[in-house]
Amino acid sequence: MRRRRLLFGLVGLGVAGAGGVLWWRARFDRIVIHHSAGASGSIDLLRRVHRQRQPGDPIDMIPYHFVVGNGRGMGMGEVAATDRWPHVWGAHTRNRRANLTGIGICLIGNFETAPVAEAQYRAALDLAVDLARRYRIAADALCFHGELPGAQTLCPGRRFPRDRMRADFAAALRA
Ligand SMILES: [Zn+2]
Repeated sequence: MRRRRLLFGLVGLGVAGAGGVLWWRARFDRIVIHHSAGASGSIDLLRRVHRQRQPGDPIDMIPYHFVVGNGRGMGMGEVAATDRWPHVWGAHTRNRRANLTGIGICLIGNFETAPVAEAQYRAALDLAVDLARRYRIAADALCFHGELPGAQTLCPGRRFPRDRMRADFAAALRA
């Protein structure tokens, strides 16, 4: 994995400057929720899709920091960290700031066409709340991909319960 070593070298250089290391450790200020838009999936599958669609990408990693399974390809509610976590910025939106400072969580499934299962919803919520506590992310800083400025996507799908998740997230952090 030569290109991965190169990448980490570049990341190291980028954060070595004045205060850079501190910024990098405290850089997360939001969580961005996505769906995979496929009925089944796993990190391996998303990685294969990424390699097919962007064969020349020097960053050989899927765009998100975490993936939450739906029982097809991964366990129901199973949480897995990707190669990006926690040292590499995300590539999950068109918004540069959201990529740099957001933790990208992808739920396997297509919530345009199907509702999210309760166990998967709970696992994603618990993950988001844990991360928010760990990185001191504000109770109103849970976002959904399609709501970011400039986004041209419905991700994570019209059937995803955004308002419920926003409320559950805020309530858990204020508790
Ligand atoms: Zn998305």
